[in-house]
Amino acid sequence: MNVLVVGGAGYIGSHCVRQAMSAGHVVAVLDNLSYGHQASVPRGVPFIHADMADTSAVRQALRDHQIELVVDFAALTNVGESVQQPERYHDNNVIRTQSLLASMLAEGVKKIVFSSTCATYGIPEKMPMTEDLSQHPINPYGQNKLEVERQLIALATTQGFSFAAFRYFNAAGAVADASIGEDHTPETHLIPLAIAAALGRRPPLKVFGSDYPTPDGTCLRDYVHVDDLSRAHLAVFDRLNVPGRQHFYNLGTGTPQSVKEVIASVERVSGKKVPHEFAPRREGDPPALYANADKVKNELGWRVQYASLDSIVETAYRWHLARPQGFATA
Ligand code: UDP
Repeated sequence: MNVLVVGGAGYIGSHCVRQAMSAGHVVAVLDNLSYGHQASVPRGVPFIHADMADTSAVRQALRDHQIELVVDFAALTNVGESVQQPERYHDNNVIRTQSLLASMLAEGVKKIVFSSTCATYGIPEKMPMTEDLSQHPINPYGQNKLEVERQLIALATTQGFSFAAFRYFNAAGAVADASIGEDHTPETHLIPLAIAAALGRRPPLKVFGSDYPTPDGTCLRDYVHVDDLSRAHLAVFDRLNVPGRQHFYNLGTGTPQSVKEVIASVERVSGKKVPHEFAPRREGDPPALYANADKVKNELGWRVQYASLDSIVETAYRWHLARPQGFATA
């Protein structure tokens, strides 16, 4: 298929681009490079440096590359920041996404795979989390993604859009050859920060909260390898050939891991201590989030290749060792 990956220079997008190419799809990337890295776009892949709200650039790209399907990763994704800057988040994650959808509609491109989030559920009413739980997000990021999910439902019903919305749990790790990986500025995610602390590149890790109602008092999350996550996107392409299809999938391994377990894993993989100290809870952090991934497994045949936390952390560690300054490393 001819695929436009919007946000394809970002962390998950860049991994998906590689996998889509390996699967034989013809890929173009559109990214405004506000957070993405052009160096992560493989040589030979058409790259359009534009914002998804740049209607003329998007429409031109859809026409030039005879795009049949869009995969949309372009979003601001930092929960804490969304609490501080709700308007900026709404503008980017809702308004600009709506502009992308309008451009697609104008060009008759009606298939989209959308990056959603487990943050749309808010504080889940049961664990592990299934797709039918009620969605009551507790931060603007989760609200933004839910708003777009609802718009996609409307477009499917009224315009024949077919879509899949993947509700991500915690994407982590890097491609096995360490050629691309996680490089956020500022970095706020647990695994890169724990690795950087182990390598003495950053101050001790702050563990946000040690009094949660969890077995060891720290938050439980579901860490899923970025390549496993990306592969699920490809697995749904064929299901979007029938107009009006709507798919929602949780994307996690189903295994909860505490912050302390992540620290222990980084210590095993690196052979170094992770200096850390306990700090107050971070605003907006639910105690536990982990997926019931039966639906994506049963319907799409999705299986993880990186089943253990150590195998995920190991790929992240290799990337951070190889690229101390991320993509800026010479
Ligand atoms: N966390 C932490 N210290 C940090 C960053 C994260 O203790 O410096 C915790 C955070 O409270 C959460 C988990 O690690 O329980 C994963 O956080 P991350 O920001 O990586 O992903 P999120 O779950 O917010 O998407």
